[in-house]
Amino acid sequence: VPALEVKGLSKVYANGFEALKGIDLSVGQGDFFALLGPNGAGKSTTLGILSGLVQKTAGQASIMGFDVNRDAFRAKQHLGVVPQEFNFNQFEKVRDIVITQAGFFGLTAAQAAENTDYLLQQLDLWDKRDTQARMLSGGMKRRLMIARALVHKPKVLILDEPTAGVDIELRRSMWEFMQRLNEQGTTIILTTHYLEEAEQLCRNIAIINHGEIVQATSTRELLTQL
Ligand code: ADP
Ligand code: ADP
Repeated sequence: VPALEVKGLSKVYANGFEALKGIDLSVGQGDFFALLGPNGAGKSTTLGILSGLVQKTAGQASIMGFDVNRDAFRAKQHLGVVPQEFNFNQFEKVRDIVITQAGFFGLTAAQAAENTDYLLQQLDLWDKRDTQARMLSGGMKRRLMIARALVHKPKVLILDEPTAGVDIELRRSMWEFMQRLNEQGTTIILTTHYLEEAEQLCRNIAIINHGEIVQATSTRELLTQL
């Protein structure tokens, strides 16, 4: 099964705005995939539907073969999502934030602690484990979001504009982290409005604009057409 499959997906918001006009998308397991498009194109809406935060109007979306609506629990077991906004409790400590998330997925306390500590080390947050989230720098908060999204070892990781507004040094280290994760077998899907980011990192790419997928091709093929 594909890691991600979307068919005829549409979204009409309550105000009547049609944010997605029946898009199709398929991302294979192990892929490193970019959904590229300008602001307002429909990227966050698509991710919102996949992560269960936005109700679709029509069509289908599945993660590892599990429908995000009908099989929401199993779809979520395979999915980690890193939204753009920091949505953790700022007064909670770093390690607690990640461990708490593991609990939602039914990990044992021992597994939760093991996964959490591994990720905090990998993401250079170990020294901050007992610090309240509000004390972290912006870059550390982003890495905390990633640690939390990965604690249940999802097969698919989706990141919404992961490097928007991030300085060059952190961007590089996040790219390296994502590449390593992908090499270890995690399917990675990111949204971006930077062609450069898609080009450097991603094997495959789809372009979304005005709620429509205008092109789905390999990154290399796309670049030869520009
Ligand atoms: P849904 O159809 O998924 O229930 P709604 O249309 O009810 O979503 O909107 C959810 C919230 O987003 C509302 O509070 C709405 O005011 C707000 N919202 C409205 N327009 C926009 C917009 N252009 N961008 C972001 N949020 C918006
Ligand atoms: P992107 O992530 O590509 O910037 P979004 O998915 O956030 O795009 O938004 C797509 C379009 O839908 C935009 O025109 C946005 O203003 C509109 N939109 C987003 N959320 C809402 C909402 N809750 N209600 C109405 N319109 C919305």
